[in-house]
Formats: sequence, structure tokens, C-alpha cells
Amino acid sequence: MFVDIAKIVIQAGNGGNGAVSFHREKYVANGGPDGGDGGKGGDVVFVVDDSLNTLVDFKYKRKFVAESGEGGRGKRCSGKGGADLVVKVPRGTLVKDANTGRIIADISGDEPVILAKGGRGGWGNTHFATATRQIPRFAKPGIPGERFELLLELKLIADVGLVGFPNVGKSTLVSVVSEAKPKIANYHFTTLSPVLGVVKIAEGESFVMADIPGLIEGASEGAGLGHQFLRHVDRCRLIVHVVDVSGVEGRDPAADFELINAELQNFDEELSRREQIVAANKCDLATPEQIEAFRQYVTEKGYAFFEISAATRQGVDELVRFVYRKLQELPPVKRYEAEALSEEEIAAGRKQELQITVEDGVYVVDAPWLLPALTGVDMEDYESLQYFQRVLRTSGVIDQLEEMGIEEGDTVVLFGYAFEYLR
Ligand code: GDP
Ligand code: MG
Repeated sequence: MFVDIAKIVIQAGNGGNGAVSFHREKYVANGGPDGGDGGKGGDVVFVVDDSLNTLVDFKYKRKFVAESGEGGRGKRCSGKGGADLVVKVPRGTLVKDANTGRIIADISGDEPVILAKGGRGGWGNTHFATATRQIPRFAKPGIPGERFELLLELKLIADVGLVGFPNVGKSTLVSVVSEAKPKIANYHFTTLSPVLGVVKIAEGESFVMADIPGLIEGASEGAGLGHQFLRHVDRCRLIVHVVDVSGVEGRDPAADFELINAELQNFDEELSRREQIVAANKCDLATPEQIEAFRQYVTEKGYAFFEISAATRQGVDELVRFVYRKLQELPPVKRYEAEALSEEEIAAGRKQELQITVEDGVYVVDAPWLLPALTGVDMEDYESLQYFQRVLRTSGVIDQLEEMGIEEGDTVVLFGYAFEYLR
């Protein structure tokens, strides 16, 4: 089964909790605090695995959770960090925010990409041995790891895409010019997934060709293949349009050619402007008049024209050499840039409810949108703390606390950090 779209959830590990512990030793009274810090949660990291060419694995496993950090212990022992979770995807996997469609990453290169960051470990109480009233007296839980709902969309990376009606010989062409062995048969729907083949011209000179299953395949029969595979033409630098010039299937090559181009244009206006050349296949079965008539039709429209027979290899080498030369002039394979959060998304995040509850005289603030602001704060750095206090004020947290009647010296808890409220 070919799957090239999937919806998944990724969850980075939570930070481990800091420990509250006091030094204990015979004959030593009231030892100082010695609770260690929690470990950092593991990240969720995506890497390319070239042995994969579909997203089928994500159809069955949809949740990816990295390990959480361990809690700190006494005697100043820090908790162990959680292991990163490495998710392998095919090259060319586009990662989008499932809710907004915003592009987050294009996993096309060889560098691993961190998509969800693990939470920082909470501080153990050793940190607060020198606490002034300005800084928190203790810290318990670690910071939660990031969690995202993602839409994965595979857009294969190939220099050349073969398009054309079913049964015109696309798979045969790929199989004679590369080591790829797509299924070939004299009936429609044989190729049910795009197949990539590396075409080697000479030492160090090669390009990648994709056999894109017939565009019309299924569309007319309602079999549902339809436009599903056009996504994979998107990144191709050059389209080789394969046409059966012999008309053995009782069709007119010029009409086929126009129909496919109309499909490309319908799918994406931009695809109709993509560099395209024409390979008139099955010349071994065609009459010279048939070939000539089609050549004239195509060249008048300004396309480069090649007469080939994938079955006998006639004309195939000329086609391949031309393609290679042409590719040298064309822009590189398209990479998608990550898109920034829109103003609306940021605003929507801010608008999320601010919930403050009072438990035993302790004010517990729940405001997930404050987490990124807190993540960057170093509680031991004065300027950093000042910044955080400004955030609390401008975001309305302080106002709401005051409305609720908070008093000097009361404790405020935010993501496990405890503060003393001071005017
Ligand atoms: P695809 O659907 O476009 O991938 O077409 P295939 O590559 O599966 O080929 C369909 C049929 O046409 C198969 O029976 C092939 O053997 C045959 N075929 C492909 N190319 C040629 C050719 O150049 N000459 C002849 N005579 N038959 C061909
Ligand atoms: Mg095929």
C-alpha cells in the first residue's frame, strides 16, 4: 500500500522533577538542602531514512513519545535525561501543523531536525540555599515537553518526473534506464506507487527519475487514484511527458497529450509552466507518418521531442543525455521553508484562558501560553527574572492575582516554580 499522507502526534519528554531533600549525617544537625535537579526530557527528532519511500508506517503507529527525564535525588544527584526519540521518515517529507497547515519543516536534508523539544528538568532545592526573597524558594516539577499534532506529507525528491496516460510505457522506461524495477504489465493500474530510479550517465553524473503513476488512472473509472500522485510531480525540475505514439490502445496521441497537460494545470497552475519535454514511445509499433504528425504537433508548441522505444531501447540514450544536460540549466530541487506563526495564531495563543486557582493559600497559575516565555528564563539571573516579571505583568497574570486578593508574601506557583508575591 502506498501512503503519502499521515496525521500523527509527537510528544517530547517531560522534564524530571527536582528533589527536595536535606543533608543528613550523624551528629550533624539541620543539614542544608541537597535535592538534585530533574533530568531534561528527550526531544522528538526526525531524520531521513533512504530505505523508506512511503509513510505507511505512520498509518499504524500515530503517537510518538520521547522519554521523560528522571527526577532528581538527594545528595545532589541529578536525574538522568530522557532519551531522544528518533523518527525515521522518507526523504522529502513535509511536516505541517495539522490544525493550521503551516509548514514546520521539510525533511529533505541529512541533518536531524528537532520537532518537539523536551522539557527542562525542575530544580532541586539545593538551588535555593542562597535564595533571597526575589527568587523562588523551591522548585518541584519539571517543565512539560512540547506536544504537536502534525500532518506529514510526502513530496518525493526527484529531478525528473515521468507523466502520461496509463500503459504508455513509463514504468518500462524507468526500468531500462535505471536499476529500479517497477511493475510492468499490459494493463492499467499496474503502478500503484511512484518509483524512484537513479539514472547513471557516467562516473559522478546521474539524476533521479520518478515513475509517477498514470494521472488519469482511476479518475475516469472512479477508482480514486485520480490526482493523488500529482503531489510528487511538485518538486520535479523537469517533466518528461511520455505519450504512446502508436495508438495501439486506440487513442490519439495529441489528445492524450492535451488531456494530461490539462490535468497538470488543474492541479497546480505552476505545474503547467514547469519545464517539459516529450517522449513519443512505442515507436517500434508506430508508422513513420504517425511519428511525424505527432512530432510536428509537439514541436510547433515549442517542446523538445524525442522518438523512443522503451522496449527496444531505441532513442533512449539520446533522451537520457538530453535530460541530463537540461537539468544542468534548471534550478535545484525545491525545498520548503518553515513558515512563521501568523499574527492570528500568536494572538489566539495569548487569548487562551488564564486560570488561577487557590489551594491552601497557594495561587496556582495555569497558562500554557506562558511556557515559552518561562523556558528561556534563568531564575538565577537577575535581568532574566526582571524580564519574566514584566511578562507576568503585561500578560495580566499579576492583575488577576491582585483581583483575587493576593497578599504580600503569598506563594504563587507557575509550572512548578514557586514565587513569593511581592508588591
Ligand atoms: P505505464 O503504465 O505507463 O507504466 O506502462 P508500462 O511500462 O507498464 O507498459 C505498458 C505496456 O506497454 C507493457 O506491456 C509494456 O511491455 C509495453 N511497452 C512499453 N514500452 C513499449 C515500447 O516501446 N514498445 C512496445 N511495443 N511496447 C511497449
Ligand atoms: Mg506504470
